[in-house]
Amino acid sequence: MRMSRVGAAGVILAATAGLCGTLATSQGPAPPAQPKFDLLLRGGHVIDARNAISAVRDVAISRGTVAAVAAKLNPADALKTIDVSGLHVVPGLIDLHAHVYTGTGEPRSYAGDNSVYPDGFTFRVGVTTVADAGGSGWRNFDDFKSRIVDRSKTRVLAFLNIVGNGMRGGKFEQDLADMEAKPTADMALRHPGLIVGIKTAHFAGPEWAPVERAVEAGTLANVPVMVDFGASQPERPLSELVTKKLRPGDIYTHVYSGLRGEQDSSGHVNPALFAGRKRGVIFDVGHGGGSFLWRIAVPAIKEGFLPDSISTDLHIGSMNSGMKDMLNVMGKFLAMGLPLDDVIAKSTWNPARELRQESLGHLSVGAVADIAVLRLERGKFGFVDMYGARMDAGQRLVCELTLRDGKVVYDLNGVSRPDWRTLPPDYRQTGDARWDGITPAPVRR
Ligand SMILES: [Zn+2]
Repeated sequence: MRMSRVGAAGVILAATAGLCGTLATSQGPAPPAQPKFDLLLRGGHVIDARNAISAVRDVAISRGTVAAVAAKLNPADALKTIDVSGLHVVPGLIDLHAHVYTGTGEPRSYAGDNSVYPDGFTFRVGVTTVADAGGSGWRNFDDFKSRIVDRSKTRVLAFLNIVGNGMRGGKFEQDLADMEAKPTADMALRHPGLIVGIKTAHFAGPEWAPVERAVEAGTLANVPVMVDFGASQPERPLSELVTKKLRPGDIYTHVYSGLRGEQDSSGHVNPALFAGRKRGVIFDVGHGGGSFLWRIAVPAIKEGFLPDSISTDLHIGSMNSGMKDMLNVMGKFLAMGLPLDDVIAKSTWNPARELRQESLGHLSVGAVADIAVLRLERGKFGFVDMYGARMDAGQRLVCELTLRDGKVVYDLNGVSRPDWRTLPPDYRQTGDARWDGITPAPVRR
């Protein structure tokens, strides 16, 4: 074991965790032998909608969960302290509409090449949980689970497609014979807390059957339904969907696309959306490559029709277009005048409740320590919609640090890391497995 510039307390820690030069280089004095906290995020502005906190708070983490949130916590109680003053400390972002069922090799398919591996798109923008929006159905959910869910560092949840084959393209997604409520519900019931809803999407026909069977499956499995309403058809108007067909808690996504009558001919919000909201129907952004327009969103927000949740609809067609990533979509709502606290709530606690995963999306003591540390950057920025129209903006969100289960999994500027000049000449991994999910020193026993 290499030891250098570590006090007596550090020697004890090094013996248990194989530490080398880390302790002497973190801010402040050497931590205690038996630290109460593994990690302390010090001096950040915490935004936690569930607990009605928007204030400067220290956040302590122990064994992967939030251990304390208080105006002042003692760094001497923590193995590792990170100064996050000037930054926003928020629950790990929840993107409830993404497409991550990739790797199957199927071209032009959201159960294949149109989807992306989550870990490359999540932690770097503060997202710790995504819900795959219907890539798989009951026939291929097991494949999705073993291929993506079980192998990703991101927490991956799923809306199960009402189509048994999932989102594999036209001939599958238009096949009413493969939309069966019972096997869909049975699969959902086999995976509570993982399959969090039922999805219907991309349907082009005039029939209500996809929506009705999705709702039937959702009722059998006691989970919400998310609707991408597909092609606009006079036989199944939006007004009937949100005022009659959907249940309270069901989710209408792509709300600012303008493609299915969300805005009426006079440029106002379709009154049915307000009526649907009154009934408890949820309205989600689902930006995607073709589902967000300034000319729909700006007047809607002026009229008070805000989204319940902000989500990306991440896929290969949106990742490098106007959508880009979760923080970019959130930045658009800041640009339209929503307060930061609201934008964070719509990306954390609101989606957690919509998914009925109320253990997520907040920083209560005992909650899983999925946390994003964000910087609100001022400057000259621009945000682009699905038709390439730009809105100028003076601020945007950048992710500095992301924690998953209490461990640092992304650190843009190395705020958790020691300056290399302070380390021994032969330094190796500088972290401790109790807080570091990137470069922890090997644990020696
Ligand atoms: Zn989608």
